[in-house]
Amino acid sequence: MDPFVKIATTGAGGVGKSTFTIQFCYSKFIEEYDPTIEDSYRKQVEIDNEIIDIEIFDNYYFDWGNYFKYEFYKRIHGFIVVYSITDEYSFDKLENFLNEIYKYREVEEFPIIIIGNKNDLEDRRVIKKEEGEEFAIKHGCPFYETSAKTRYNIEETIFTLLREIRKYPFDLDL
Ligand code: GDP
Ligand code: MG
Repeated sequence: MDPFVKIATTGAGGVGKSTFTIQFCYSKFIEEYDPTIEDSYRKQVEIDNEIIDIEIFDNYYFDWGNYFKYEFYKRIHGFIVVYSITDEYSFDKLENFLNEIYKYREVEEFPIIIIGNKNDLEDRRVIKKEEGEEFAIKHGCPFYETSAKTRYNIEETIFTLLREIRKYPFDLDL
């Protein structure tokens, strides 16, 4: 059995997917990150008295053809769908990213968490917290506002997603 729980980030460019991943895995904030780097990160976490090895796939698949996307999506156990509270476009695109997951997984429900990132940039906010909450409720997903800079709700996001993954009927010993 695959020992890693596989998580992927998705969402529009520049919303903080890589920064979130690196903040979670290495507890540091990066100002500049090469947006073309495709990589995966591994980390061990303890949740509900259990040790889980997770692998986070960041920035994968964007320019891939359908076949590879399908192969990639098939291996993922849960998604973090990200928008930025400072970027209306990224919020408007959320539905597309969700639909893509359902399409490639060929299911109607899946472990997905939606996050409104950059919550530290209050003065640049254009999406109200309630808008994010409403969208998430409509799609049956948990929701947090996060900051990949201050680490606000970063661990909560991963832990909530892991609990969603555990509820889902994967062939995984979680
Ligand atoms: P990606 O394209 O979604 O992977 O976005 P990046 O992780 O590369 O982040 C884009 C820019 O936003 C970078 O300059 C980050 O430093 C910045 N950034 C990401 N998350 C946050 C955050 O929570 N707060 C602030 N203030 N900046 C952030
Ligand atoms: Mg990135």
